[in-house]
Amino acid sequence: MGGWFRITLWKRVMLGLVLGLLVGAALYYGLGKDAQGNPNAAEFADTWLKPFGDAFVKLIKMLVVPLIFTTLVAGVTAMGDPKRLGGLGGRAIGMYFLTTWVAVSLGLIMGTLFRPGVGIDVSTFGTAVECGTEAAMNAGAAVQEVCAKLDKAAGGPQTIAAKLLDIIPSNPVEALNDTNVLAIIFFAIIFGIGCLLAGDKGRPVASAIESAADVMLKVTVMVMELAPFGVFFLMAWVMAKLGFAILDNLGLLAIALYIACILQIIIVYGLIIIKGVVRLPLARFFGGIRDAQAVAFSTASSSGTLPVTIANVSENLGVKKSVASSVLPVGATINMDGTAIYLGLVALFAAQALGIEMTPIMYVMVALTATLTSIGAAGIPSAGLLLATVVMNEVNVPDEMAILIIAFIFPFDRLLDMMRTMTNVTGDAAIATAVAKWEGELDEEIFKARAVV
Ligand code: ASP
Repeated sequence: MGGWFRITLWKRVMLGLVLGLLVGAALYYGLGKDAQGNPNAAEFADTWLKPFGDAFVKLIKMLVVPLIFTTLVAGVTAMGDPKRLGGLGGRAIGMYFLTTWVAVSLGLIMGTLFRPGVGIDVSTFGTAVECGTEAAMNAGAAVQEVCAKLDKAAGGPQTIAAKLLDIIPSNPVEALNDTNVLAIIFFAIIFGIGCLLAGDKGRPVASAIESAADVMLKVTVMVMELAPFGVFFLMAWVMAKLGFAILDNLGLLAIALYIACILQIIIVYGLIIIKGVVRLPLARFFGGIRDAQAVAFSTASSSGTLPVTIANVSENLGVKKSVASSVLPVGATINMDGTAIYLGLVALFAAQALGIEMTPIMYVMVALTATLTSIGAAGIPSAGLLLATVVMNEVNVPDEMAILIIAFIFPFDRLLDMMRTMTNVTGDAAIATAVAKWEGELDEEIFKARAVV
């Protein structure tokens, strides 16, 4: 037992990831397929593997609300001067836009090089359907599932004004209850400023919340001890259901996405860390966020990974809590470079499948909508794919057809989602580190010295 805990956490998490992959693949290929071509391991995976993975996901999700609230209030009170928040937020948001714009361009370049949609016979998808009609009810399980999810996704506010208004909670308790992250951030910042303005009278409340924040970080560390097992079950489940078998066109889509994400991680974030603002060794950066990357990869949820990202970035990279706890929750909600890459790719995929000629204006419009849509996507599994109708509209794909394309990709989306989520989380960490350096809130000794081997 002692030996297990002596192994550094990230190595145990990697072990879980690799073992999960192997066990899942062994089940998928070992048990073969039934007469309908579905893997025999699927039921076993859903009954015996997924619940354990879900338990881990629920445990980290449990941390999100109390962790964001307490660390953010503590961050603001530690900053001492509310005026500094403006500069911090402005810099972070500027960098979010810049990196996301590069990401979409990378996605479009890869989509043009790999042409994943060319040669697809769209008639095999079935006839175009509109969700909510009788045709959709009879269109098969995949279409029905996508329509049900789209219906749910459409429940939120629609216009930009409504979205912005949604950031102001009419009832903070309700915001905490609904895990409305932006509303929680809004309230926490105002509450923190209130503590500062109240002076001596505000001190007891501020101290209590600072102490609660420390406690929440410790609880995160405790939950993370379960990460190797959680990651094992999640990976085994995904592999037992899907194997490595993404065929033909979807394989090309996956390759284009993986290459674009790897380039984004190494070149774009690499430049920010080595050459840009931070100017520190890249290996240490990646070494410090390995746990967060592995958890993002296996859970496919950047919001779910948030507690781990905050813990990694503050403890391993030396980003002061005031910055980590304000920049990272916002990043997990609005900065999604992997998702932006994917949205650009899916738009091209659809255009190629339907033989639509892309004009230069269409490229620009796709880039613009993909950037904005990625901001609106929630940090939960498959959120990016469900929003892809918006970018497909930009290349004149009718809604009914877009739904079929989403239903076609949907069963395999998890394998794609894992990579884009890992990219999203790496981007959040890179920008938080950069902003911390800018603001003089980066402890370089911790960044350079903390051995994670
Ligand atoms: N799953 C991604 C995330 O949580 C969002 C997406 O579907 O692209 O970051």
